[in-house]
Amino acid sequence: MKEYNLYCTGCSHKESINKNISRCPKCDEPMEVELIKEGKIKYSKDKGQTILERYLDFFPYLDISRKDSLGEGFTPLTNLKSISNNLNLKGLYLKNESQNPTWSFKDRGTLLGILHGKKLGYKKIGTVSTGNMAPSVAAYAAKFKLESYIFVKDTIAEEKLNPILIYNPKLFKVKGDYGSLYYNTLELGEKKDIYFINSDVPLRVEGSKTIAFEICEQLNFEMPDYVIVPTSAGGNIRGIEKGFREFKEVGIINKVPKIICAQSAGCSPIDKVFSENKEKIERFENPSTIAHAIENPLPPSGNQVLRMLKRNGGFTASVEDDEIIDAQKDLAQNGLFLQPASCVPLAALKKLRQEEKIEKYSTVVIIGTGGGLKYTKVFEKYNFNYSQIDLDDIENID
Ligand SMILES: *Cc1c(COP(=O)(O)O)cnc(C)c1O
Ligand SMILES: [Zn+2]
Repeated sequence: MKEYNLYCTGCSHKESINKNISRCPKCDEPMEVELIKEGKIKYSKDKGQTILERYLDFFPYLDISRKDSLGEGFTPLTNLKSISNNLNLKGLYLKNESQNPTWSFKDRGTLLGILHGKKLGYKKIGTVSTGNMAPSVAAYAAKFKLESYIFVKDTIAEEKLNPILIYNPKLFKVKGDYGSLYYNTLELGEKKDIYFINSDVPLRVEGSKTIAFEICEQLNFEMPDYVIVPTSAGGNIRGIEKGFREFKEVGIINKVPKIICAQSAGCSPIDKVFSENKEKIERFENPSTIAHAIENPLPPSGNQVLRMLKRNGGFTASVEDDEIIDAQKDLAQNGLFLQPASCVPLAALKKLRQEEKIEKYSTVVIIGTGGGLKYTKVFEKYNFNYSQIDLDDIENID
């Protein structure tokens, strides 16, 4: 059987995939699973088929079983016809990742991380998160009967704790530099035998490939011109791009779409460095945005996202909080309620159309990474109104 490897995205240093190594021991850049060069979609009429069964060939290094799934993936690709017409596009589609077991795309990578950890013999898993990774890892740990160690920022909003604690993890609120926590936990994991599924570890990136695979199928293999991804650590955008590249490599599609990294102007380290034509990520000072799920000021995959965009021909964009709220309203007016971070791609698209950086009659896919109910504080930004009436008056309404 073929042996698979992890490669460093920075210096190509090689390690066996049967080790838990997420950063390069030589240059500290993120490690990545080698590109899969052979494979087919396993078409099936079986309604119980899971994403890992369908795309099994693209995860040949894992033991995959149906009973391990919580039903992640196979999310809708919704046609946004009226917004598409308004923006003079040929087509606009939203990949609605709120339809996952814990209401964000994170479940795809969490499952793969756990399967990898299990294969390597780990009994404990962990993550560092302020948002959606925490409930996802806690939920899958519960499903797999593993202990989970969740580390969150000291300043985390109280309303976010209970949706993590419901799964009964060990939860730690940590005082201190949140950026360092990512690296400290990777070290802790080595000492305490905890498999950390942090934001851009190789298997978490692998999970996001399935977003690209599904989009290809849902568009009948007619590739869009652009795919816009709201980006924080950079794990998801890397996985989506790798997914398209693997499908092209094996001949399932003939073109990789241009990938656009969309950020909030209040925390846009990748957009800033890309616009200044630099090659190394720099810490974004004093981040502040309503899009909390994408508020990482020093993205651990930042340098690799810059390299990936260069290879892909894609680019970056950033948008203000009020533009994000406007996009959230637009989506709600189409029946879709997503959290602020997940509305960043539509806000970016509107701006890029205005600036003609995306040409008219293009076909665009935006990634709606997570559900709206995850962040109810956003309602403070709205002035909703309703009418209070007596039962007798219901015939007099207009
Ligand atoms: C995690 C997350 C992102 C960012 O993904 P990265 O892999 O960290 O770039 C975007 N949107 C939502 C809703 C998320 O939970
Ligand atoms: Zn390296």
